[in-house]
Amino acid sequence: MVALKYLIPILLWLSATTGARADEAISLALPMRCQPSLTCFFQNYVDHDASDKARDYRCGGRSYDRHDGTDLRIRNQEIQKQGIEVLAAAPGRVIGARNDMEDVSVKTVGKAAIAGKECGNGAVIEHEGGWRTQYCHMAKGSVRVKAGDQVTTGQPIGIVGLSGDTEFFHLHFTVRHRGKIVDPFAHGAEENSCGGGRSLWAASLSEQIQYRPREIIDFGFAGIAPTMELVESGEIDKHPVTSGSDALVAYVRAIGLQAGDQQSLALEDPTGASMSTNNLPPLDRDKAQFLVIAGKRRTEAAWPAGRYSATYRVMRDGAEVLRKTFDIEARLR
Ligand SMILES: [Zn+2]
Repeated sequence: MVALKYLIPILLWLSATTGARADEAISLALPMRCQPSLTCFFQNYVDHDASDKARDYRCGGRSYDRHDGTDLRIRNQEIQKQGIEVLAAAPGRVIGARNDMEDVSVKTVGKAAIAGKECGNGAVIEHEGGWRTQYCHMAKGSVRVKAGDQVTTGQPIGIVGLSGDTEFFHLHFTVRHRGKIVDPFAHGAEENSCGGGRSLWAASLSEQIQYRPREIIDFGFAGIAPTMELVESGEIDKHPVTSGSDALVAYVRAIGLQAGDQQSLALEDPTGASMSTNNLPPLDRDKAQFLVIAGKRRTEAAWPAGRYSATYRVMRDGAEVLRKTFDIEARLR
């Protein structure tokens, strides 16, 4: 007979493992054909704050009030045109889909035009164990599943678009368990826990889904002054630096910046001399995204050939929290 002092730990172990098994009923694959932090980026997480403020699962500000899913964005419209696939995150049965809404920013059409259809072109998949996943904002006409279809993990169901309540190209991905919203990064997290709960993502994704408080999503050089519109459309790539370009400008677009963050971007010419430095004041509030530029207008006949270098830094409370150096080898003609 097993002594009581052994029996209790065994019973505890049994209840822990069976509890865990019921909990681990779903394992999620990435719902987009992309590489996080390289070709796609987690822009917003589920809001864990019950008030009118917002807090992500790590108690950062990478969310907004009542945001019920995970936003996985791509860089720009040029990339969207290539057709970035949205993928079923787990096997299941499609229980609903929509495919006829225009790809247009909500900033253009207004909230009233998409009322009741905030998800845009989307699909809902039902999985075993009371789980559902929802995929939103896909491109018009790209949704290739319909109610009743069986899908397997990783099966393409549509293309990233701009339909419904969105103003940038991304997939809004919602997970529900028995009707309740679940954060796939923090399933079962205690109220106000910062980093509690369990990830529902497949173990193979652990590196890719790491939380990054701030992230650079675009950087480069341009022959004109970049604007957010030029970067968001991808048009900026059509204005490279040439020996005769009007300007030589470095730019960085970062997401997840926090109130108090102090950014700088410094540009050096091929001799290492400073061409331009943009020191920004501390941010007055959190910024979902921010574009910083530093550059110079051409005053001589041509830009000298050589390697131009730019360094972007984010300082916070006297410490450097983000840094990137990049350069352009200009064999300028
Ligand atoms: Zn969203």
